[in-house]
Amino acid sequence: MKKEPILYVVVPCYNEEEVLPETTKQLKEKMQKLIKEKKVSTKSKVMYVNDGSKDKTWNLIKGINQKEPLFTGITLSRNRGHQNALLGGLMTAKKYADVVISMDADLQDDINAIDGMLDKYKEGCDIVYGVRSARKKDTWFKRVTAESFYKFMKVLGVDVVYNHADYRLTSKKVLDNLENFKEVNLFLRGIFPLIGYKTDVVYYERNERFAGESKYPLKKMLNFAWDGITSFSVKPLRMICSIGFIILFISIIIMLYSLIRKLTGNTVDGWTFLSISVWFIGGLQMISIGIIGEYIGKMYNETKQRPRFIISENLEEKE
Ligand code: UDP
Ligand code: MG
Repeated sequence: MKKEPILYVVVPCYNEEEVLPETTKQLKEKMQKLIKEKKVSTKSKVMYVNDGSKDKTWNLIKGINQKEPLFTGITLSRNRGHQNALLGGLMTAKKYADVVISMDADLQDDINAIDGMLDKYKEGCDIVYGVRSARKKDTWFKRVTAESFYKFMKVLGVDVVYNHADYRLTSKKVLDNLENFKEVNLFLRGIFPLIGYKTDVVYYERNERFAGESKYPLKKMLNFAWDGITSFSVKPLRMICSIGFIILFISIIIMLYSLIRKLTGNTVDGWTFLSISVWFIGGLQMISIGIIGEYIGKMYNETKQRPRFIISENLEEKE
């Protein structure tokens, strides 16, 4: 039988001194249970990533690490935001682990979903997405904004898993591929579906944050959503062109309308010429900007230098 995989649970923490003791307690129980049940190797660990916290988070992590060998940590030189902290954690953890699960420090994501994720991993999945089945505990506002965001992303043609945040299991193989996505504007939720491999989802109920405040105030949330859209879709650029054509079409209607007005003698001098010109030039300008946008969109995709393909199996290399 295959040996148990080494699991690393990566947890980004920004000013989380209030939640860390409880999180540590719960994760410790969970990890010990997983190790006892031989679901994961005894070398498995929880890796806290301190994202340049301004409170005692890092001292706490160091203390926990000294007391409990099950816990380890890294700290970033300054606050770089959730996505970067997470990436830092994933890239570090993959050096030691066979499989990595990322989750938030506030345990809003049910840690009991880990078992289900590991089962799917055993069945051969390389990515298992944690998906929120219910958001009863979220505020109305958070639920509506978050859910419309996922829907909007779909409309823009971005492949994201509905109601999945950054609670997911990834194999080392997937993380090795993630390393080749060099983009700086990180939106990890959009990258993993691009990596591919066999994937599955595990459903769980999202809880309330048991202590501390959300580190994602509205402003950060909007920034994040905007990043997600502009990092994955060139549709907004393309929309400029479409608007241009619509305006050009309107200008034809205006032209007919103005001419009729002129012929029936209902106009001031020069009005026909002006109204036709304004609409026609407006449409032409929009289309021109749209064409420039097309090229910028292409340049933008080129500069990201994303891998163009990922080979998951090669029969030439089978022993
Ligand atoms: N976080 C981080 N850096 C930041 C902001 C947040 O590492 O600049 C971490 C935070 O500690 C938590 C996770 O990202 O573990 C998600 O944040 P939070 O729970 O506040 O977001 P929400 O659940 O309200 O969307
Ligand atoms: Mg949270």
